Amino acid sequence: MDTQTLADNVLTTQLKKVVNWARRSSLWPMPFATACCGIELMATASSRYDLSRFGAEAMRFSPRQADLMIVAGRVTIKMMPVLQHIYQQMCEPKWVISMGACASTGGVFDAYATIQGIDQFMPVDVYVPGCPPRPETLIEGIMAIQRIIDNEGLPPAGKRRPLAIAIETSYKPTAQPVPLTIGGNRSVNHV
Ligand code: SF4
Repeated sequence: MDTQTLADNVLTTQLKKVVNWARRSSLWPMPFATACCGIELMATASSRYDLSRFGAEAMRFSPRQADLMIVAGRVTIKMMPVLQHIYQQMCEPKWVISMGACASTGGVFDAYATIQGIDQFMPVDVYVPGCPPRPETLIEGIMAIQRIIDNEGLPPAGKRRPLAIAIETSYKPTAQPVPLTIGGNRSVNHV
């Protein structure tokens, strides 16, 4: 084999880079969607946003097959033991995304029955802001975890410390359509 053929067909790299490339390209989310944020989570997996581009579209409802928990929506005191149980059953290494204001802080539900931030009871790696966050923002949160995996060594044994990364919104809000009066007695919306 001549050297040119060799250069075109052989790739040298480090074992940890190959292992981490495979790990970050095959995150298996465990959706814990309790409210409206769950709809945006579903939209993220839809054809428009196509989460499979990031290798994370295989939502698993069996915790032992999942390594990325996405908590989307408010969590009540009654639900928290269930959430903790599911988290404990997931395989290591595992990550947690807190999606939306309710999961991260309780949101507008400042009530005794609503958990005022899931990080009081379990580790959170990435906080995705918004009410609800747009799919792009959730994807940014997943990419933040991918970047961390890329830069890790080989999978660490035992438990990791939570990363606690806060994602910034990736879009600029624009004004809502303004009603337009035509002829003084009819109203239509800009499109
Ligand atoms: S953050 Fe907003 S959109 Fe998400 S669950 Fe709470 S109220 Fe619903």
